[in-house]
Amino acid sequence: MEELNPFKIAQKQLDEAAKIMELDEATHAMLREPMRTLIVTIPVKMDNGTTKVFTGFRVQYNDARGPTKGGIRWHPEESLDTVKALAAWMTWKTAIVDLPYGGGKGGIICNPKEMSDAEKERLARGYIRAIGRFIGPEKDIPAPDVYTNPQIMAWMMDEYSKIVGYNAFGVITGKPLGIGGSKGRADATARGGMYVLREATRYIKMDLEENAENMYKPYEELEKMEDSIPKENAITIAIQGYGNAGQFAHLLVTRLFKNAKVVAVSDSKGGIYSEDGLPFKKMRKTKQNTGSVINYEAKKITNEELLELDVDILIPAALENVIHRDNADKIKAKIVLELANGPTTPEADEILHKKNILVLPDFLANAGGVTVSYFEWVQNITGYYWDFEEVYEKLDKKMSKAFWDVINKQKEYKEKGKDIHTRTAAYIVSIERVVKAMKDRGWL
Ligand code: GLU
Repeated sequence: MEELNPFKIAQKQLDEAAKIMELDEATHAMLREPMRTLIVTIPVKMDNGTTKVFTGFRVQYNDARGPTKGGIRWHPEESLDTVKALAAWMTWKTAIVDLPYGGGKGGIICNPKEMSDAEKERLARGYIRAIGRFIGPEKDIPAPDVYTNPQIMAWMMDEYSKIVGYNAFGVITGKPLGIGGSKGRADATARGGMYVLREATRYIKMDLEENAENMYKPYEELEKMEDSIPKENAITIAIQGYGNAGQFAHLLVTRLFKNAKVVAVSDSKGGIYSEDGLPFKKMRKTKQNTGSVINYEAKKITNEELLELDVDILIPAALENVIHRDNADKIKAKIVLELANGPTTPEADEILHKKNILVLPDFLANAGGVTVSYFEWVQNITGYYWDFEEVYEKLDKKMSKAFWDVINKQKEYKEKGKDIHTRTAAYIVSIERVVKAMKDRGWL
């Protein structure tokens, strides 16, 4: 059986990099487990008068480089191992874009789709009361993730501010604009991915044509533009997942590049395909009005079929382990841009690498979210707020540099006779930075 436990996968990826780097035993051991883990119970009064007890987690994986940072997921299948894996990946993510942070993650086992707004608010506040002493602007800074959003961040920030007795905007990021949120945070994950994608297509000489004029335009302006689908020389794209990252990826890839054509999209209910391209505006409307992209008139496909389409670029933007040893061989894309966390298993990585597919690993490809979170935190601390262009330009610099750091690391190892995956190269860049911090601090 292929290993699908995300934490075991995260450890396996680390082990692989550690072996190649010849990391010493103590350092390796320190990086294999989280530094601190908290499990809490949260009693919540439900609308029908009963009380339900929820389980929540917060994991602070490594804080050598600064306060731990990472989102909070609300998911019915949340588990400590998933949160530990995601906290580990946050450690590598903040390091790859060189933010002064460590990595952390939180989660609550719950099904937000079945909860009222009032119940969600009580759960959000209850969670913060439970973990309040564990977090803080200089300590551990949560943010949104799967099924959490700016409103939930606002309640959490408010509850924390009540506990400490002042407006502590810097305790959490991904807040609404007007109470400490940053411009450009909403589309940051997908946008960061686009800047990495642009560099990657330059690197492999794929002919994705930039639309320089739109590169730093606010997403609200891009949303107003009409869809124009290229007929010739189109670079084809399939997107799995139509949540925040997937929807913005559709918008941005078709506005920041002239010849990008999204031919397939999907969500948890299934997918659709059109050779002529799927227009963003109509797709988003269908998703908003009917709850799923499958209600758009086009050929129905499964999520599995979407991954195996003959496209140039594949964007997994949903959940973990969707590319595994049984389907990796069928992937035809030349580039896989991982906007989701953990979409590819280690066995699949090996297969994709052999097929010469350029994998842009999750903690590089989706680091845009946490990068703009960092910008948000800086703006909270200084009390001076930036415009869209400033945010996007700074984001572009961070993402582009991270991409080339990874490629250069891969080349460096190639010269030493070691042919490593882009994921392993990314691990090595991040591990080196975390290890340097731990050693400089005298931990090891
Ligand atoms: N949840 C996002 C991630 O996985 C963002 C984390 C953050 O902004 O702190 O990268």
